[in-house]
Amino acid sequence: MDHHFSPTVDSLQALARQVTQTSIEPMAAQVDAQCMWPAHSMAALAQAGLMGLHVPTALGGHGQGLQTLAAITETIGRACPSSALCFGMHCVGTAVIAAKATGYQQQHYLRAIAQGRHITTLALSESGSGAHFFLPATRLAADGDDFIVDGTKQFVTNGSHADSYVISTAAQQDGAAAPGGDFSCLVLDADAPGLQWQEPWAGFGMRGNSSRGLRLEGTRVPRRNLLGEQGDQVWYVFEVIAPFFLMAMAGTYLGVAQSALEATEAHLRMRRYAHSGESLADIESLQVRFAAMWVALEKSRGLLREAAARGDAGHPDALPYLLACKADAADTAVLLANEAMTLCGGMAYRENSRVAQMLRDARASHVMSPTTDLLKLWTGRSLLGVPLL
Ligand SMILES: Cc1cc2nc3c(=O)[nH]c(=O)nc-3n(C[C@H](O)[C@H](O)[C@H](O)COP(=O)(O)OP(=O)(O)OC[C@H]3O[C@@H](n4cnc5c(N)ncnc54)[C@H](O)[C@@H]3O)c2cc1C
Repeated sequence: MDHHFSPTVDSLQALARQVTQTSIEPMAAQVDAQCMWPAHSMAALAQAGLMGLHVPTALGGHGQGLQTLAAITETIGRACPSSALCFGMHCVGTAVIAAKATGYQQQHYLRAIAQGRHITTLALSESGSGAHFFLPATRLAADGDDFIVDGTKQFVTNGSHADSYVISTAAQQDGAAAPGGDFSCLVLDADAPGLQWQEPWAGFGMRGNSSRGLRLEGTRVPRRNLLGEQGDQVWYVFEVIAPFFLMAMAGTYLGVAQSALEATEAHLRMRRYAHSGESLADIESLQVRFAAMWVALEKSRGLLREAAARGDAGHPDALPYLLACKADAADTAVLLANEAMTLCGGMAYRENSRVAQMLRDARASHVMSPTTDLLKLWTGRSLLGVPLL
């Protein structure tokens, strides 16, 4: 496939690059050091009109798909991975709302998102099912024109900062949720009664994403906030959430890998020995290691772009590409950040060095659902014609 972007994707990526340089990169170290949710990044992306990436053009958005999401999250992730994650989860939430939006949801959520007035995000994970994010135990019970929701979500990116949360639930049966039963996705407004936020997040990496637990106790949600039909969740998980999430995360971690390569190149060129006048870039074994880093990055970028292009085109064989590209980007980000830690020598080992942050941020990739373990399993299953679940 042709991996050159269309002029529209190119211009949106150029816009994201400009926003990143002027508003996101200058604060990236502070975001990491202070576990600061990047309000400035989200505001700058909103100001540039990028929050409605996946909102249909008829509602004021860009009507874009997977390629643009991957390109933009890579651009942001290269400078501030936490900002890329926050923006990426907003985009995934938007795509989920947009997939089967009712008239009310179009006007109330999608138009506001396109105008940069509304941040949404995804709240699927629960401690009970962990990496098996498609098995919610959060209970959904019908009550007149409303639903009553009870349960606890964990690791909600943009937690307590978003205007709405796309949550997964299971219909109540005999007083308990039935995992594997009737799944539904809802969009939950931030000001709904009964939302209790747990302690703020202080992560090993991705420290600015405000990943928080959310307890829902008897939370009343109007029926109009149901996404699609009741029981549609499996469709959402595999047709919308997975592809958009995989693109956002693969793009973000490819950005981390790119910045690790750039930091390594700068150090190899700059560091020169007094005793020989030789730079690190003159040393053959380091030239070989640097080449291996570059090859790994370009292979991952090629796989990601292939996956995005196939996903956007609705290619019948897109699935293994989509599943593989996030696991592969995760492996590459960790590999390159780790190599950068060695090749950049003692300066990289300084507490909270930029390279050390890359390694910490890269590590999150393996445990973010769908996790690397599950993605590799599912890629094999999809190639062998074995059901994923
Ligand atoms: C920085 C960050 C941001 C996040 N943001 C969000 C968010 O916005 N929204 C959201 O819903 N969630 C989010 N999550 C949660 C994330 O998607 C995972 O659900 C969560 O990290 C899983 O953690 P756990 O401890 O429950 O894993 P566990 O379920 O305990 O798994 C531990 C390990 O076992 C492996 N494992 C489990 N089962 C199998 C199996 N059958 N075969 C092979 N290996 C297996 C997993 O791959 C994993 O590596 C975020 C997590 C992090 C770290």
